[in-house]
Amino acid sequence: MTKPVFRFAPSPNGQLHLGHAYSALLNADFARRFGGRFLLRIEDIDIARCRPEFEAAIHEDLAWLGLTWELPVRRQSEHFSDYRVAFLQLKERGAVYPCFCSRKDIAAAIACREAETGRPSPRDPDGTPLYPGTCRSLSGEEAERRIAKSEPHAWRLDSAGLQHILPGPYHYRRFDREGREETVAADPRRWGDTVIVRKETPTSYHLSVVVDDALQGITHVVRGQDLEAATDLHVLLQVLLGLPTPLYHHHGLVLDPMGDKLAKRRQSTSLAEARAEGIDPQDIRRRLGF
Ligand code: GLU
Repeated sequence: MTKPVFRFAPSPNGQLHLGHAYSALLNADFARRFGGRFLLRIEDIDIARCRPEFEAAIHEDLAWLGLTWELPVRRQSEHFSDYRVAFLQLKERGAVYPCFCSRKDIAAAIACREAETGRPSPRDPDGTPLYPGTCRSLSGEEAERRIAKSEPHAWRLDSAGLQHILPGPYHYRRFDREGREETVAADPRRWGDTVIVRKETPTSYHLSVVVDDALQGITHVVRGQDLEAATDLHVLLQVLLGLPTPLYHHHGLVLDPMGDKLAKRRQSTSLAEARAEGIDPQDIRRRLGF
């Protein structure tokens, strides 16, 4: 039997905090208990926000916590061509359409629709109003003409079209700390026509994560509950791209003393800070239950 493969996949756009430490330690703990491998992946597609010093700190923080991982480490920014191949496959299947809307266009269309219907716009699981579908009805010719003129555009999932060709139902298997598995229903339509290739980046989190999990042979994805709803979309992308669906475990989030989610922006207790203050990494491990 092939060994289970786990990964911790942080984005180097800020300092790691206790929540990241928990996720990394949990992945490594699963890998150890399941006799599996543990990989680190740097999710740095957002070149404008990711910085080399944050990437260096990820390596230092994780090593300080006592973790080891296999080399080489996959850095997403070195693999845009892999995401392009996957995007072309989605395009070939007619699963995506180009969208030329600016944020302002989208906000205006949503406000207009809300005024017309007297109802708030439906929202995705992250609370963002669903794209109102403005560019879905553009003719192929018009879209091509605008692309030929280098008009900035993103590519969105054609959720209504997919409903006809791949109506589902979708599901995946989740596992718990003891390795027990169960099937969970997935509803990718909750995300509407979500962006699969961004305007300013030739991929998106959703596309890259699905491509990389498959290319790296990840069998078990362990990540925070804040990404649980995204798994529904990932399952759809895996079906569309003919990729295997790993098993998933979405862990609870480490909260600050006020009960709020830790965030890179809010200077939540960063591991770098803890390191600089001379805190014993064993204390951190114990505090997080390892
Ligand atoms: N890069 C994502 C983050 O830092 C995690 C992606 C994943 O685990 O699927 O939140």
